[in-house]
Amino acid sequence: MNLNYDVIIIGAGPTGLAAAQTLRRRGIHNIAIIEREEHAGGVPRHCQHPTFGLLAFKRPMKGNKFAQALIKRVGDTQIYTRSTVVSFQPNGILTVSMSDGIVEMHAKRVLVATGVRETPRHPRLVTGLRPQGILTAGALQQFVYLKGKKPCRNPVIVGSELVSFSALWTLKNAGVKAQGMIESGSRILAYKPAVLFAKAMGTPVYLNSKITQIGGLERVEYVVVETAGQSHKIMCDSIIFTGGFVGENTLIRKSHLDFDANTGKPVTDQYGHCSDIHYYAAGNMLHPADMGDQCYQEGLIIGGHIADDILAHHHKLSINNTVRLPVSIGSSIRFSVPACIDLSVMNMDKTDFNIQVKHAITGTVKVMAGDYILYEKHHRCLPTRRILLKGIDLTKIQPDATEIRITVV
Ligand SMILES: Cc1cc2nc3c(=O)[nH]c(=O)nc-3n(C[C@H](O)[C@H](O)[C@H](O)COP(=O)(O)OP(=O)(O)OC[C@H]3O[C@@H](n4cnc5c(N)ncnc54)[C@H](O)[C@@H]3O)c2cc1C
Repeated sequence: MNLNYDVIIIGAGPTGLAAAQTLRRRGIHNIAIIEREEHAGGVPRHCQHPTFGLLAFKRPMKGNKFAQALIKRVGDTQIYTRSTVVSFQPNGILTVSMSDGIVEMHAKRVLVATGVRETPRHPRLVTGLRPQGILTAGALQQFVYLKGKKPCRNPVIVGSELVSFSALWTLKNAGVKAQGMIESGSRILAYKPAVLFAKAMGTPVYLNSKITQIGGLERVEYVVVETAGQSHKIMCDSIIFTGGFVGENTLIRKSHLDFDANTGKPVTDQYGHCSDIHYYAAGNMLHPADMGDQCYQEGLIIGGHIADDILAHHHKLSINNTVRLPVSIGSSIRFSVPACIDLSVMNMDKTDFNIQVKHAITGTVKVMAGDYILYEKHHRCLPTRRILLKGIDLTKIQPDATEIRITVV
């Protein structure tokens, strides 16, 4: 078994597969992808709604078909499935747990593309008993689409993001009607017309609402929901907690890489480079949860940066953190990708910033480098949605700038 690669990619979702595709196109074939699931493909593998493919294949595709098509694009790339990277160290050394034991692998460059997970019940601090029947939208999809099972008969859905409505769709395909959708905010987080879909399914949407009690000893029997100060009971056998996406950053938090203490995201520059020269990061682990196609596009680009790096005549030996300009964000902003700009390698004049806000806010998004305005545009920003600040001209950054500052006012 080969243990030494030019590039190792952690995660065989759209981001990792896209990066592998570019690397191969650039002539770098000594690559491996490590995937903890039984099959490659990432989240789209268990999505059977046609919300994928428009950018990558110019047509709407179901997630599972999209995943298969992406796997085809990486040809005979070595993909180790049922293999989990359990830690990594400086110099591109990875500890990988495989079916026949633990191995140490080495790569000149590593791309961390570990994706997202939804927030399950416990971090949401929902009180009550702990019966069976509590799951996430991703788990629901896996039961219905990958295992052909019907995990519930009359569930409630918590959340109102796009993925919450796709859970409604999954339930419809399984012949199950949801008893309600529960959203703590005053509007749904998905596009407003999605409410019509819930209506058509006969599922009421409860805004300004939260679950205050879960009833049932063995299995969920009911939930008590508080809506605008009034409590009411909904009989149900399951609760599907949807969305509340967080990056899969467990590996990062226990690594030597610089990361943001609030989000666990590694500090990446405009090339996706982390604070150690051997490591890159990309995809939904940085910006939960952009669409599959968007992650695929990003993977193609970051794969190109890694190829430039590997093929360079004069390798950079280390990241000089003193020439990385930090990106600071205003209090209404949740995160920015990139989180810093590397001024020592300016072979890219312009870059996009991907930001998300904490609460709905309409205003002017401003990006400043010192006193210089790099970007200024009116945006209607909703939480959980990407806001792309396009084409920011990095050549305009003055040498005396000490940070890039992004605000919404
Ligand atoms: C429930 C759910 C529904 C969604 N529905 C849609 C939708 O309908 N349309 C859409 O466009 N987008 C949807 N998304 C967004 C989705 O995340 C993106 O479509 C896309 O999958 C992101 O690509 P990625 O490669 O960054 O991450 P992922 O697809 O999440 O892939 C990351 C991969 O890394 C693997 N991995 C993680 N840690 C390790 C480790 N330590 N070792 C080895 N492997 C590891 C994971 O098993 C996974 O396969 C959904 C997301 C979720 C969670």
